[in-house]
Amino acid sequence: MSSKHESPDKKDVSGTHKRLSNLMHQAGNRYCADCGTPEPKWVSSSLGVFICIKCSGIHRSLGVHISKIASLKLDQWSDEQVDALEKLGGNTFLNKKYEACLPSNIKKPKPHTSIEERSEYIRKKYEELQFMMESDENSLCPFVPSQGRSVSLGPSSSSCYTYHIDNKKYEKALTRHHIGHAFRKSWTRKDSEHKCSKKSTSLAGMVEFVGLIKVNVRKGTHLAIRDVVTSDPYVILSLGHQSVKTRVIRNNLNPVWNESLMLSIPENIPPLKVLVYDKDTFSTDDFMGEAEIDIQPLVLAAIAYEKSTANESVQLEKFVESRDNTLVRDGVISLEDGKIKQEISVRLQNVERGVLEIELECVPLIQ
Ligand SMILES: [Zn+2]
Repeated sequence: MSSKHESPDKKDVSGTHKRLSNLMHQAGNRYCADCGTPEPKWVSSSLGVFICIKCSGIHRSLGVHISKIASLKLDQWSDEQVDALEKLGGNTFLNKKYEACLPSNIKKPKPHTSIEERSEYIRKKYEELQFMMESDENSLCPFVPSQGRSVSLGPSSSSCYTYHIDNKKYEKALTRHHIGHAFRKSWTRKDSEHKCSKKSTSLAGMVEFVGLIKVNVRKGTHLAIRDVVTSDPYVILSLGHQSVKTRVIRNNLNPVWNESLMLSIPENIPPLKVLVYDKDTFSTDDFMGEAEIDIQPLVLAAIAYEKSTANESVQLEKFVESRDNTLVRDGVISLEDGKIKQEISVRLQNVERGVLEIELECVPLIQ
């Protein structure tokens, strides 16, 4: 990796951190792009907007194919990711794009706007792109600039976006910013399901979240064969209405992903569903097993720890294999550097073989 930082004695990490911090302190980024709450701690790394915790929950429920949420504090940021974020232009620029044609009868959410209203607004803004300028038949928007005109509105925006954006460009931009082609393709089926069940997914945004769960999908062992002698496995995690997935690892029955994915925890704390699939280019992806993990004990331990004073000891639980769970090894909930974690080895179900190792970390939202 190249080092393009001022002083050689400084590590890359601190330079990256500094740049991220500078971005956070840009005037427009000091308030949530969607509701105006001060000091947002979250960002959509795919869209580029800095947002508050409440709005981040709704963004997550849109799915990572629309908005990929990262924590400005809790996630590790690489130089390249900060570059990509810088290029997206920040809240001021992006709100001019996504709210270019905001009708006067639609009120933008405020910090205390209800979750229903907030959700409706965010969906219209980023999923349906209702307030964006239309590219070709722009008859609906009174503020359309002349064809091909490009207006750069942000400090580093000119190379990345033209104000006059069309859907194809938008798709391209998404692809460029972390959402790979294979990933989008594999979501095609999900997208169509999504459309059919609009009603139920729109309810997803109305769920209150009690925390976040960071799932590190470590590795798979002795996975099932789906392509003659091997498989191209990837993992889908789903919690309530949200789902996220890992990258595909080609030709490997013992894949190592070491990929961290973040999900919001809905109030009713549903089980975390883990699904393994084999990526096929020309046909539907093949099923390679599944598992269901009860995350309630972890969430409750994290909340108990957060509520306790520093001197109090926290009772951390140990999970013993039982009739209805599929753990290969005991899943121990532990406290590491003030973080509540759980390491789990899970035997995949409804498949001939395969074990998955994952690590869970819970971040409660009691503030
Ligand atoms: Zn917000």
